[in-house]
Amino acid sequence: MLRKELKIFTFNDLLNYFPFRHVDKTKVDKIGELNYQTEYAQVAGKLIDCEIVGEKQGRRLVAHLKDDSGEIEMVWFQGINWIQKALQVGQHYLVFGKLGFFMNKAQFSHPEIETYTKENATGKSFLEPIYPSTEKLKIKGLNGRAIGKLTYHLLQLISEKDVPENLPQSILTKYKFICRYDAYRHIHFPATEKHFLHALRRLKFEELFFAQLRLGLIKSTRHRYSKGQSFEKVGNLFTTFYEKHLPFALTNAQKRVLKEIRKDVGSGKQMNRLLQGDVGSGKTIVALLMMLIAADNDFQSVLMAPTEILAQQHFNSITELIGDLPICVKLLTGSSKTKERREVLQLTETGKVTILIGTHAVIEDKVVFKNLGFAVIDEQHKFGVAQRALLWKKNNIPPHVLVMTATPIPRTLALTAYGDLDYSVMDELPPGRKAIKTVHRFENNRPNVMDFIKEEIAKGRQAYIIYPLIEESSKLDYENLMKGYEEVKSFFPEPNYWVSMVHGKMKSDQKETNMQRFVINDTQIMVSTTVIEVGVNVPNASVMVIESAEKFGLSQLHQLRGRVGRGAEQSFCILLTGSKISKDAAERLKIMVATNDGFKIAEKDLEIRGPGDIEGTQQSGLLNFRLANIVQDKVIVDAAKEQVDSILDTDPDFTLAENLRIKNYLYLQKGKTIWSKIS
Ligand code: ADP
Ligand code: MG
Repeated sequence: MLRKELKIFTFNDLLNYFPFRHVDKTKVDKIGELNYQTEYAQVAGKLIDCEIVGEKQGRRLVAHLKDDSGEIEMVWFQGINWIQKALQVGQHYLVFGKLGFFMNKAQFSHPEIETYTKENATGKSFLEPIYPSTEKLKIKGLNGRAIGKLTYHLLQLISEKDVPENLPQSILTKYKFICRYDAYRHIHFPATEKHFLHALRRLKFEELFFAQLRLGLIKSTRHRYSKGQSFEKVGNLFTTFYEKHLPFALTNAQKRVLKEIRKDVGSGKQMNRLLQGDVGSGKTIVALLMMLIAADNDFQSVLMAPTEILAQQHFNSITELIGDLPICVKLLTGSSKTKERREVLQLTETGKVTILIGTHAVIEDKVVFKNLGFAVIDEQHKFGVAQRALLWKKNNIPPHVLVMTATPIPRTLALTAYGDLDYSVMDELPPGRKAIKTVHRFENNRPNVMDFIKEEIAKGRQAYIIYPLIEESSKLDYENLMKGYEEVKSFFPEPNYWVSMVHGKMKSDQKETNMQRFVINDTQIMVSTTVIEVGVNVPNASVMVIESAEKFGLSQLHQLRGRVGRGAEQSFCILLTGSKISKDAAERLKIMVATNDGFKIAEKDLEIRGPGDIEGTQQSGLLNFRLANIVQDKVIVDAAKEQVDSILDTDPDFTLAENLRIKNYLYLQKGKTIWSKIS
């Protein structure tokens, strides 16, 4: 039962099944002293009466308990016959429960009641833990209290050597942590709240410490032992491109990141790097420059994108950028025609393809490279961990991997969740961009919004109108989209205006045609679902209207907004909502209006939603800590990180006597870890 319902398999699991709160039964209160401020109370006294009263729905058991200071009423609405039989007027009882007030008089409803004895006369010597249980377990009689009893017995049985210390003495001393055995005792059965808090702090640290240590170990092992391709030279392709083709000067952030990556790929070790850069910060060109360096060293590259639209767009813009450079760039997606696909596969296998661009189709087994040296994964959060791992196997010596994402993750979170990856940030936008102006408008303002779009179109600009697609399969969402499309067309009649539409249920060639018409300004308006969320680049578009904006999460809103503001013109983002929106939604919209900074938005997102929901981290399961909360416990996160870094710097093999505890603990935990390679 425990096994199936709560995933408790061993004593160790039971020890790690923590109470969600404690109740204080350490004191016995005087009935006469209870007042409105008392939430829970424990009293002792003589049962003076115990009667069933009322009819039908109102039938209840009413009893009174009296001590030398006063009298209190107790009521039960369920199981009343049974309870009445069990109680005896004239006996002394110990009663615990939540205090309610009825007609100004204190009252317990459904209190816990037990016979008053010498043993329990002065109350418990510890705070009583309450554990989460499930409905099924409760039916079997295994409620939170019963689990507490099991845990209590378990703690009687074990001794300090069963819960060996796993943190070095220096850490215990530095942070004044209690030892591990005490921490487990006190988190379940603390004598006082202070004991509990000490235990909690210690166990949270331990949790964060080992999570970060495991990831850090993967990284440090890779840095020390992995073998990687070495890109020794910068050759003709790179130089020619840099001097003759590059249409702009790189930003300082782009230069810095390029340097970081080049250092990695020249080190002889395999690179696994996460590149974070806000939407529009220019990550693609960095990836392209690196792929050219790979080509200069006779290696092939692959660039993988989350959607066909994006893959196609990367293909178009890269083909255009490289112009007449003597390299072969090919596209491979799920909808490539058989003949074309066969040709691309063959060219890839023989090494003729220099850069292969595509969707997840590029990591299928059928795709064989002659000499893959560099892999770029764009907008990584759409790719599963397992898919990423497939890339490693595409070459004898695994290729360098660059993971790019515009989903901003706060730094602490990134370092914790992706601790096995090296980390680069591009925190600068190319010059000349004007900050996007964002406003929130209610639905009844729609005509004004449409007029505004007309003005922008008259200036030669284009606009997106995005509809929410909560579920890929939701019929209602599509109906709304179609209704919206018709409505937009009635505001913008042909032949003065042309409207494109793109959504997930379309055939990909139709999607592509519609997209392409918008790209070349053949249509002025793009009506779409969130399929265009990531990566799409149409610099001439200056208005982003988001319909039912209250239904979108912050990071999605930010991604969508990032589709405009890519040219030199002033751009606008209009968040349309109904008149009634929830408090959370209002908060999100307020943040969007207030800032364009993706990292600030990510911090806010984290505050509002908590870490479990941050995109790109759910799959990794890395942020689902039992005790720690990566937002609220930031101080502990940082302390743990500091200790992990220092140990991995000085003693990564745990050879010092001081670190033996860590080594032993990791050894014991082996096989249980869920942290495999996450890139
Ligand atoms: P993202 O980081 O969101 O993927 P892109 O790589 O799509 O951004 O770049 C956004 C736009 O900025 C593109 O049109 C690109 O050509 C342009 N761009 C990139 N770097 C620079 C730069 N240093 N100066 C000017 N424009 C740039
Ligand atoms: Mg991009």
